[in-house]
Amino acid sequence: MNLDEITHTARRDHLCASCGMTIRTGERYVRAPLPGGGLVAKKPAHGKCYTALLASANETNLAKKG
Ligand SMILES: [Zn+2]
Repeated sequence: MNLDEITHTARRDHLCASCGMTIRTGERYVRAPLPGGGLVAKKPAHGKCYTALLASANETNLAKKG
């Protein structure tokens, strides 16, 4: 997935689904289905938080395979 396609500029404050900190108006953030948890829903997250989530999800998958 191209990160640019799911990166937006916040038009109002959002709560990061990963770290719980506020994504301030004007900040860039990602809105995407977050790995982990049951339901796959599109949620806002900081770009950094999202990439960290993806990385940890990949590690988990690798661990399951290994
Ligand atoms: Zn965050």
